[in-house]
Amino acid sequence: MKAVVMTEERKLEARDDYSSPAPEGWAVVDVKAAGVCGSELHFLDGMVPAPFADFVLGHEIAGVVAAAPAGSKVEAGDRVAVYNFVGCGQCRWCRTGHESICVEPRAQLGWTANGGFAEQVAAPPANLIKLPDSVSFEAAAVLACSGMTAVHAVRLAGAELGQTAIVDGVGGVGLMVIQVLAEAGLRVFAVADAESRVALAEEAGAAEVIVLPGGEGYDGLPDRVKALNDGAGADYFFELVGTEASMRGGIRSLGRRGAAVLVGYTEDELKIHPIDLILSEARVLSSVAASRHDLETAIALAGEGKLSVAIDTAYPLEEVDTAIARLRAREVNGRNVLVP
Ligand SMILES: [Zn+2]
Ligand SMILES: [Zn+2]
Repeated sequence: MKAVVMTEERKLEARDDYSSPAPEGWAVVDVKAAGVCGSELHFLDGMVPAPFADFVLGHEIAGVVAAAPAGSKVEAGDRVAVYNFVGCGQCRWCRTGHESICVEPRAQLGWTANGGFAEQVAAPPANLIKLPDSVSFEAAAVLACSGMTAVHAVRLAGAELGQTAIVDGVGGVGLMVIQVLAEAGLRVFAVADAESRVALAEEAGAAEVIVLPGGEGYDGLPDRVKALNDGAGADYFFELVGTEASMRGGIRSLGRRGAAVLVGYTEDELKIHPIDLILSEARVLSSVAASRHDLETAIALAGEGKLSVAIDTAYPLEEVDTAIARLRAREVNGRNVLVP
């Protein structure tokens, strides 16, 4: 099959005759869309090591089932999204539906096992989630990363109807978090780094958008939040920017028993005086990836038109370098996808 592999020299190369046999008991999916995520750059830059040479990237995958073992709940021809975590199935976390924090994961497609930058991908049949007709393959691929991540973060926070949440960052995941929170009945204050992103945040469901031009001015965030919220701090601060200043400003913007939820990866350190947490009994939570059920929820919301996904451009496999270069140059609005 055709595939784009990452060579030992960390270059992407298109191959026409790549072979990746499916493990016993797994299904095979004809890939129709694979999202090109910021995490891909971490592999290419050597920050995340490839599991083996000529490895196939791509953890945001949707397609059509080509073959599934007898007794599966999916069959050839089904349109599906691929949940990319394959847990051990034995540990406490797998047994309670939290494969993404499995202590001995079997595989993570596009991270430790071959992913979706290819004509076909193999996955356990239980990882394939059927798509409503109204959800495109391109959208489903993106839901299988940032969409499910947003649902997971909101669930993990325990967000409830009528509460107030700050969402720091109006990028791919941030716009999803805003939509999920608004749908769950929260009042959302989005924090954007440019006026040009205000309309996007409002469309996603933000009640207010606080602009901190160039990401400067987080020291003033607590006062701006209180001015919009009857003098009270927020119940949640969803962090997708992750600078030292933004994390501190966000935590100080919380009200009594508020929670900061750290979602994006960051190189910066979290530095906060414990008094900033203690006096208001505030909490710091963190959220990584998502469960299979979170992906199911994201797909259901999208199917009902309640969660929309911005796609920038769909590229054939051979043009992966263009998709990556545009991502690196921060030129992408929404997500680029590969369509093998
Ligand atoms: Zn991703
Ligand atoms: Zn496990």
